[in-house]
Amino acid sequence: MKNIVIFGAPGSGKGTQSDLLVQKYGFRHISTGDVLRAEIKAGTELGRTASSYIDKGQLLPDALIIDILAATYDALGPCEGVIFDGFPRTIPQAEALKQMLADRNTGVGAMLELDVPEEMLMERLVNRGKTSGRADDNAETIRKRLDVYRSQTAPLVEWYESEGLHHTVKGYGSLEEINAALCAVIDAL
Ligand code: ADP
Repeated sequence: MKNIVIFGAPGSGKGTQSDLLVQKYGFRHISTGDVLRAEIKAGTELGRTASSYIDKGQLLPDALIIDILAATYDALGPCEGVIFDGFPRTIPQAEALKQMLADRNTGVGAMLELDVPEEMLMERLVNRGKTSGRADDNAETIRKRLDVYRSQTAPLVEWYESEGLHHTVKGYGSLEEINAALCAVIDAL
């Protein structure tokens, strides 16, 4: 069982590359952003809470998202592996993921960071906003999300480095090139 954390700033291509990895390896994909957007669409209480953070470009509180993650993971059942996309985003979340997987006799096999220069991220997200319909893909909220990424999420690179699990892949170029670079790391696990 391979558990992979796909990591990177908003707009770095985590969702797109996760889909390609799912096709190739048969992994399951947990995107916390997708889980929250489904709750918003369904009009649940959790969805209402989530949008109050997402629309401002803020993170949900750790305790809440950690519970959501654990429930989503436990609902998957047996599988080849899981790609965690959009989680963890803070150090307490990384610690919680480690503990949650250890409690289930497994662990993270690798953290794969998609490295993309900041100007490119802004451009990708503004373009995505033209078609995504996402309330948070507008210039002001994107800037806030990138700030939150820098202050709360980027420190995870060092955290995973110290766990011996961090790998960086160039996150621009063709989708195929990026995918091949990710697969090379996964195949070597
Ligand atoms: P992106 O990486 O493109 O910004 P996501 O779809 O991963 O978007 O997440 C959208 C929003 O959902 C985040 O800005 C945040 O408000 C919320 N969210 C998703 N995952 C988490 C998480 N692990 N912790 C806290 N908030 C989260």
